[in-house]
Amino acid sequence: MGEHIIPLHDLRRAPSRPAGPVPAWDGRPPVDRLGRPLRDLRISVTDRCNFRCSYCMPKEVFDKRYNFLPHSALLSFEEITRIARLFVAQGVRKLRLTGGEPLLRKNIETLIGMLAELRTPDGQPLDITLTTNGSVLARKARALKDAGLQRVTVSLDALDDAVFKRMNDVDFPVAEVLRGIEAAQAVGLAPIKVNMVVKRGTNDQEILPMAEHFRHSGIVLRFIEYMDVGATNGWRMDEVLPSAQLLERLQQVHALRPLEAASPGETAERWAYADGSGEIGLISSVTQAFCGDCNRARLSTEGRLFLCLFASAGHDLRALLRDGADDAHISSTIAAIWQQRADRYSELRGVGGAVPGARRVEMHYIGG
Ligand code: SAM
Ligand code: SF4
Ligand code: SF4
Repeated sequence: MGEHIIPLHDLRRAPSRPAGPVPAWDGRPPVDRLGRPLRDLRISVTDRCNFRCSYCMPKEVFDKRYNFLPHSALLSFEEITRIARLFVAQGVRKLRLTGGEPLLRKNIETLIGMLAELRTPDGQPLDITLTTNGSVLARKARALKDAGLQRVTVSLDALDDAVFKRMNDVDFPVAEVLRGIEAAQAVGLAPIKVNMVVKRGTNDQEILPMAEHFRHSGIVLRFIEYMDVGATNGWRMDEVLPSAQLLERLQQVHALRPLEAASPGETAERWAYADGSGEIGLISSVTQAFCGDCNRARLSTEGRLFLCLFASAGHDLRALLRDGADDAHISSTIAAIWQQRADRYSELRGVGGAVPGARRVEMHYIGG
């Protein structure tokens, strides 16, 4: 008998790993089995997107027949806010809304307003941000800012229209994303970061023009190594441009000096132009694993908690919410799950320990 192939969407329904009996949470922020605290919660608010970036939601897979989640499956704003509040009590200080395309979630500014009211145990507001493809940012920037969003990260893979359109695969023009970035700047969403996923042979010729465009703008351009997330993007190592090589290309044109990490667990290595014209970031998820201080948890669109971008199963927090569990029980469950965490996929991949092509959850479902 041939191998039983699990259709992609079934992975979203993979059973939670059994947590066993849950000991009561002692109120101290948990650390995982590798001593890592929980600081950053990324919340996917929709699994839908108006782009079909080949490295994330290739058209051939995410077509008309693809079963996106029905609205009833999504966490409501109240459910998201309740979970976020419990995570904040466990040490989370940063919330990032993502997707899919988060700005496609109806009334997203209402959710931002609700999250902006949360406070840390010592009364501080949270660092709230959002990653977007920028397609509707020009229209939404003001409402997002007014709702309490502080900053924003915009993805843009090229300045050349033909290259960008090929990458988003829906013919979306660069100018419209740039308009979104300008609108975000104008309303004071700051600092703005721009994420560029670099695929060798596809958009690496855009590295220098992108760097040139964003110097002197106050915007931090971050180059992301093309990652083997999910199981649909046909990832190949020869399409990854290692950050070290990218840096060499930049250094042939610009003098750069390394900067200290702004916070522990930061994904990007920071470099400044020696002439003071700005800063860039290198996110080397493939060639230089940064699992050692990874303090990120991810909440999927339907309320599953994933402990790693490359995990194949999540823990079903929505079931707890909808079964009427009280805050104490949900908090104990979150703490117990985090304390069991030992994920370090990128490091293992580096030593040949991870299985290429293993079934993994898709990026648009748990967010980047
Ligand atoms: N739709 C929004 C966007 O594109 O900004 C938010 C969700 S997207 C999944 C989050 C980030 O993940 C984006 O910056 C995107 O470029 C990045 N990303 C998606 N697939 C990737 C891959 N295979 N390798 C590296 N980064 C990827
Ligand atoms: Fe959509 Fe973002 Fe994925 Fe591109 S990277 S397909 S914009 S979710
Ligand atoms: Fe964190 Fe997993 Fe990425 Fe390592 S591979 S940095 S554990 S999300």
